[in-house]
Amino acid sequence: MSIPKSAHIVVIGGGVVGCSVAYHLTKIGITDIILLERGALSCGTTWHSAGDIPLMKPTALLRAVRYGADLYSLLEEETGQSTGWRRCGYLKVARTPGRLAEYKRSLATFRAFGGEAEIVTPSEAKEIWPLMRTDDICGGVWERGSGRVDPTNLVMAYAKGARSRGAKVVEGVSVERILVDNGAIAGVVTSAGPIKCEIIVNCAGIWARRIAQTCGANVPLYASEHFYMLTKPIPGVHAGLTILNDPDGHIYMREDVGGLLVGCFEPNAKAIALDRIPAEFSFGRLEEDWDHVEPYLGCAADRIPALMHAQIRMLMNGPEAFTPDGALLIGETPEVRRFYVVAGCNSGGVALSGGLGQAIAALIGGEEPVFDVSRFDVRRFGEAQNNDGWLRERISEVVGRHMALPWPGKDFETGRGLRCSPLYHRLLNKGAVYGSQSGWERPLWFGSGEGSESKTFGVPAWLDAVAAEHMAVREAVAVFDLSSFAKFIFEGPEALRDLQTICTNEIDVPVGRVVYTAFLDTRGGFQSDLTVTRLAPARFMIVTGAAQAVRDADWIRRHASPYSVLTDVTSAFATLAVAGRCSRDLLSRLTDTKLDSAAFPFSTCRWISVGPVRALAVRISLTGDLGWELYVPSEMAVAAYDAIFEAGTQFGVRDAGYHALGSLRVEKGNRSWGRELSPMINPIEAGLATIVRGNKAIDFIGKSALSQAMAGPPRIRVVQFSMGLKEHFLYGDEPILRDGAHVGLVSSAGYSPSQSRIIGLGQVSSAAGVDDSFLKSGSFQVDVGGDKVDITLHTKAAFDPTGLRMRA
Ligand SMILES: Cc1cc2nc3c(=O)[nH]c(=O)nc-3n(C[C@H](O)[C@H](O)[C@H](O)COP(=O)(O)OP(=O)(O)OC[C@H]3O[C@@H](n4cnc5c(N)ncnc54)[C@H](O)[C@@H]3O)c2cc1C
Repeated sequence: MSIPKSAHIVVIGGGVVGCSVAYHLTKIGITDIILLERGALSCGTTWHSAGDIPLMKPTALLRAVRYGADLYSLLEEETGQSTGWRRCGYLKVARTPGRLAEYKRSLATFRAFGGEAEIVTPSEAKEIWPLMRTDDICGGVWERGSGRVDPTNLVMAYAKGARSRGAKVVEGVSVERILVDNGAIAGVVTSAGPIKCEIIVNCAGIWARRIAQTCGANVPLYASEHFYMLTKPIPGVHAGLTILNDPDGHIYMREDVGGLLVGCFEPNAKAIALDRIPAEFSFGRLEEDWDHVEPYLGCAADRIPALMHAQIRMLMNGPEAFTPDGALLIGETPEVRRFYVVAGCNSGGVALSGGLGQAIAALIGGEEPVFDVSRFDVRRFGEAQNNDGWLRERISEVVGRHMALPWPGKDFETGRGLRCSPLYHRLLNKGAVYGSQSGWERPLWFGSGEGSESKTFGVPAWLDAVAAEHMAVREAVAVFDLSSFAKFIFEGPEALRDLQTICTNEIDVPVGRVVYTAFLDTRGGFQSDLTVTRLAPARFMIVTGAAQAVRDADWIRRHASPYSVLTDVTSAFATLAVAGRCSRDLLSRLTDTKLDSAAFPFSTCRWISVGPVRALAVRISLTGDLGWELYVPSEMAVAAYDAIFEAGTQFGVRDAGYHALGSLRVEKGNRSWGRELSPMINPIEAGLATIVRGNKAIDFIGKSALSQAMAGPPRIRVVQFSMGLKEHFLYGDEPILRDGAHVGLVSSAGYSPSQSRIIGLGQVSSAAGVDDSFLKSGSFQVDVGGDKVDITLHTKAAFDPTGLRMRA
């Protein structure tokens, strides 16, 4: 077959995602594209799809899925190719009050995004789905805007639209290797010869990881078998029947040619290695496994008794790509420039294809994505999580999590203990309850407990334990193991100039100074927040959150001169934060270094002795209180920790975990990446103007966009608020109302024991801008699962607004 020798962009994979990407690239005028499909369009996973498009997705995906649902009918008008789009609605039933409480919370957020749905009683649910048994359910949520498509027809419509604007869509040509020159995409080697190109978008579904491996890029996903059964026609089942989801039974179903399609997301899913799937897999099916699905089909028959007498047409088993945290993988890989990936759809690729295609085309074309893709950034993972054995174990759990009740604090049980601090066992023995982040184990709190999961959306059982840790900081002293912090050394003759360019704050500070700063993109949105410590004139230590490690390193390398060197020293140093009113007194017993503010001011660092250990002591404060972060060689972390506890007994020192760190941070009003901060918000909107130095000798990235944004009132503001503690608790994403109208979402919350109130942070927005009068004049509430609870906005931080405590 003859194929072009070059193209601007090669899209790999002719499934629903690849075709949507090609379609959307041409929509923004990028037409020099070749889409390569190994077999025929839709022959991979897409053709298996049930094609369900539920609109009530998790918050971060609400805009993406709605964009798709709006597109599918327009696509039909535009291309003349039917997509099979049909709005039949979506009914989710609850077998437990906990499940219903979760629906109420999701519904509140869904409505804040303009969605329309309602909670229904069992008898109303029966009216919607007359064949259903309802005596064991306590209600449900019904959403009429959801629907379904024919996945293969949708692919054809995307492809037709893309072709009509000049894209070449080539079937029967396989990409064998990615060509890289000087760390960037140079082309592909295909079964029909090489193609030179500048950009690749890897949309190869379950094969995306293997293709990425040919150029050393990490795309951590793994295939799992995924089942549904089709029946012959059943009386009472008709084409207009709404889609039914019964997550407590791990099942969903919908009409299919007069019969039912009954699918499951089983907790014991079957991860499958790629080499067990034939290389030529095309419109293929994996082996039937009736024993495996039998319990779930039993659940389905319990729910729909008519299924007992239904004749079975077939059991469909198709492979689908799942990721370690059950979320998509989107973006440019850090390992190879201009190598983009959109994969790991976790059984939502058809529903999300429109939003995904739009978002990646926007990223490539410099336009605005319809949703915030930073939460799905492929750079949230690194090499550590791209390991066959680890992925296989984790993925079998991820599938079932799709329908598990998402209690607050619910964490994965598999693939744990991958990255542990040197203090891991010591703290475990002292009662640490661990949670995981980016493969790291981190203490959440100390005390008894059955794990991190709360099993309530109300006040969590850990409240008192965490409140005691919180108060230990405010009244005495506590030690936090923050070893999961990512730490880098950045050095070289151009290191200062590089950092001046990528950091908003002034980095040309005396040696020994610590600077809290932001990385911004050219639109002025946050790419990260972090600290930079000047260790020597041309040597800096950069410390950032565990979840930001790969993306921040990528951002720095991408903008650094070839003479600057970035070294990841995360594993070399443990980080112990000694924080609280008595932290100076405690540390003074372990060191001869003077720790008073004259000798050791806030925002500076020194090498000091901590008992038998030498540590880099950095005087900053996440908690908003007096304190130091100690960077200790990993092998000496236990010795340092023991010395601190021995010296700290008289001050009542205690361990504290990430939940207390969170409530202390929120009480002080400190913003956090991934919660208050994202590419969708700039420092002025975030209330962080103090970390922007517009008068630096070197212009930083994002400066001009920021200057423009400052011309009017901010569109968004991060606000702090508080509310009384009764039966409600906040876990994030609860809508904020002003005079009854939705104006934002809660981003972080915690309990302040000294005020006996819940303190939260949230983003509030208004098309006309959010100025002080907007915040002062309205009456504000949060919507907690339909209950509107009054909140008080704070104009100053709830704790130590002048910063006296941390600077004392
Ligand atoms: C049983 C089942 C039911 C599902 N139900 C739903 C549902 O109701 N709703 C929903 O939203 N999602 C559903 N899904 C998930 C959905 O089908 C997938 O998320 C989606 O199809 C993934 O699309 P894709 O384009 O990423 O992958 P694919 O469709 O697999 O496309 C990738 C393409 O890349 C090609 N390719 C691979 N390697 C190469 C190479 N080297 N060179 C060239 N081409 C290559 C493959 O041939 C393939 O066609 C379901 C999945 C299954 C298995």
